[in-house]
Amino acid sequence: MPGPSEKKHQEYEWQISGKVKETHDTYTYTLLPVSESQRFDFEIGQFVTLSVFLIRPTASGGSEENLVNRAYSIASSPSRDFIELTIKEEKPYGYINPTTGKSDSFAAYFNEQVKLGDRLKLKLNPNKEHFLWKVATGIEKNVAYWSGANGAESARGLIQYMEDKNDPEFNLVLFYSNTKLSVDNAKKDFSSTEHHPVDTLNIIYYNWLIDITKKIENLKVIFTFTREQEVPITSPQDARIIYRKGRFFLNPDGSPEKTLSKYGGKVETLFNPICGSSSFINGTVMLPNRKINRGKGILQNLVELEGVKPEKIDKEQFYLQQVGANQQEEK
Ligand SMILES: Cc1cc2nc3c(=O)[nH]c(=O)nc-3n(C[C@H](O)[C@H](O)[C@H](O)COP(=O)(O)OP(=O)(O)OC[C@H]3O[C@@H](n4cnc5c(N)ncnc54)[C@H](O)[C@@H]3O)c2cc1C
Repeated sequence: MPGPSEKKHQEYEWQISGKVKETHDTYTYTLLPVSESQRFDFEIGQFVTLSVFLIRPTASGGSEENLVNRAYSIASSPSRDFIELTIKEEKPYGYINPTTGKSDSFAAYFNEQVKLGDRLKLKLNPNKEHFLWKVATGIEKNVAYWSGANGAESARGLIQYMEDKNDPEFNLVLFYSNTKLSVDNAKKDFSSTEHHPVDTLNIIYYNWLIDITKKIENLKVIFTFTREQEVPITSPQDARIIYRKGRFFLNPDGSPEKTLSKYGGKVETLFNPICGSSSFINGTVMLPNRKINRGKGILQNLVELEGVKPEKIDKEQFYLQQVGANQQEEK
């Protein structure tokens, strides 16, 4: 197998061998190399760029086929033979860009058109100081991972890695922020500990996370629900699966909460990767007039409220949050 430098910008061909529905708008794909010459090594936290021909609508009611590229974090562990990618539809199916009069999305059409057995072209991002590189190299082993509604993919890879390696020195607390548990809460009884049906589920990896957290002692998950009036799950409360409501770093009465100290333990020892939209990471949003509005996100809260040092923070931004565009805002 060629070394990493020879393969830096190489395009590989992998084949879809599995497709699992995670939520009403998200699928996880399992990919295998079409031949051993197409295999590459990767590290926790790296992402790939997919290039796929997709048929997408135009404003005139027609359709066009184009080659479309998007970045996806690897959601599986390097210790496994395959890679897994989780693809969430941010823009709704049928969305037409008002300026170009054409669809400019990827995920909704990928999830619709890509089938088992299809071959995909992908590139591994070559950046050495990629997201989580300090975790991948073993410099950081005590991790508080902050995920928006779309952002837990690299944490999933990390959890699989913990499962495979069983390193007693490695600890992960996953802080996972979502608007609500289900897109259809009114009709469901969420007090049950049974698996939740994926068709209405709004939290990526929810059932898997509950199961795996019960198995791995060094893993803890803090779910927050930002748009629920009440916490939708009440019992039983496992010490390593915690439910809260509202934004992280805010108490129910609106006063500041030291969320990391409260659930994560010793702040100085913790490494804090943050992954999600710009709004989740640092409060940056694009207004309808395309101006950028800067606010505060997890990053500022960690530094200002908890005194976390910049070298103990890492981040991966999936996209720039547009105000008024996204119904699934995660903060
Ligand atoms: C390094 C990196 C890693 C990533 N990893 C992942 C991953 O593992 N999984 C994943 O799902 N995504 C990941 N992404 C994001 C991914 O590339 C896609 O953006 C995502 O899948 C959404 O695709 P889309 O086609 O729906 O929207 P895109 O065409 O990519 O557009 C996203 C943009 O649409 C805007 N938008 C949302 N709703 C609307 C609306 N109603 N109208 C207009 N605009 C709207 C959002 O604000 C956002 O700016 C990653 C991105 C990067 C840069």
